Amino acid sequence: MGQIIQCNRPQPCSMEWRNRAIATIEADFNRSADTHLIRIDLPKFNDITLYLKDESSHPTGSLKHRLARSLFLYAICNGKIGPQTTIVEASSGSTAVSEAYFARMINLPFVAVMPRTTSKEKIAAIEFYGGRPHLVDDPKTVYDAARQVAEETGGYYIDQFTYAERATDWRGNNNIAESIFNQMSHEEFPNPRWIVTGAGTGGTSATLGRYIRYRQLDTRLCVADPEASIFHQHFTDRSIMEIDRCSSIIEGIGRPRVEPSFVPDVVDCMVTVPDAASLAAQRAISKIIGRACGGSTGTNIWACALLISEMVKKGEKGSVVTLLCDHGDRYRSTYFNDEWVEKNGFDIAPYLEQMDAFFSEGRLITV
Ligand SMILES: *Cc1c(COP(=O)(O)O)cnc(C)c1O
Repeated sequence: MGQIIQCNRPQPCSMEWRNRAIATIEADFNRSADTHLIRIDLPKFNDITLYLKDESSHPTGSLKHRLARSLFLYAICNGKIGPQTTIVEASSGSTAVSEAYFARMINLPFVAVMPRTTSKEKIAAIEFYGGRPHLVDDPKTVYDAARQVAEETGGYYIDQFTYAERATDWRGNNNIAESIFNQMSHEEFPNPRWIVTGAGTGGTSATLGRYIRYRQLDTRLCVADPEASIFHQHFTDRSIMEIDRCSSIIEGIGRPRVEPSFVPDVVDCMVTVPDAASLAAQRAISKIIGRACGGSTGTNIWACALLISEMVKKGEKGSVVTLLCDHGDRYRSTYFNDEWVEKNGFDIAPYLEQMDAFFSEGRLITV
């Protein structure tokens, strides 16, 4: 009497299935190479170097490859998914592309709930990996729609916006921060003055900020945010949690809701970037590296140019690291299409002029 063994309710998977699924994902990781850290020469700026962590070189083309792998491992180890589970996600596109890749790898159906405005190249990429797009008109309804699709299919809402910050091993395990610092170790300024990233889920900035603190580094973390996004508003006034809509057209970053994975206390500063400046910087950096980059990379580059300008004014030397978040091929029909840019009311010419002058003449960006 008094000794009771209580067993848990049946799990959605057997131990054999779980072990096989994890081993499959780990084997894929083991076959993968790390992403490159590209050094951008700034001949007009002495003693300041700029680096781009090329997250577009993942098999699914964006920084969301890391996140998708972490979210799948997290969900599997938490006993949330099994051989019959439909995986559902709310996404503006890139996460869904990467998750479709991992869902197919372990033979699970995948549904991506996305705003109707998502680029057709991204929708095609999701379908390429066997995912099913579920388009909604109002971007703010993606969360509820994803929950509902999961309920109807008896599936699992994998929920990047909630779990991004905790699914990633922030202390190491070759996360994006550890990878950057390792690759910087032979440079003349190995500890960057600034690391710059955007925020969509907020997961990347949370990992970077925690890692910097954990490793006791003096690197500062800057989040570059579209003007119309809520994150920088929340950063200055923590009571602001939601706005009516985020009209920014930069895919992957900028939200109308402060996502649970955004951790403002590990961010040192935020820079607000107009969409037209992001589009101009996207073109400028694409020309410099000879390869098309996505819009959020442009947002990052604009913020880097601003921070480098501040460094020059203060006479500081050092390195600045930012992310090449995804490949520009996904935006041929939009950001790189002059007609589209004009039709959407953007005048990028003045920003292009500033970018050109910054990179070719060393003229500083002024706020
Ligand atoms: C998600 C995303 C970001 C931001 O990353 P988070 O870790 O979600 O904050 C930036 N650029 C692109 C293209 C993205 O898809």
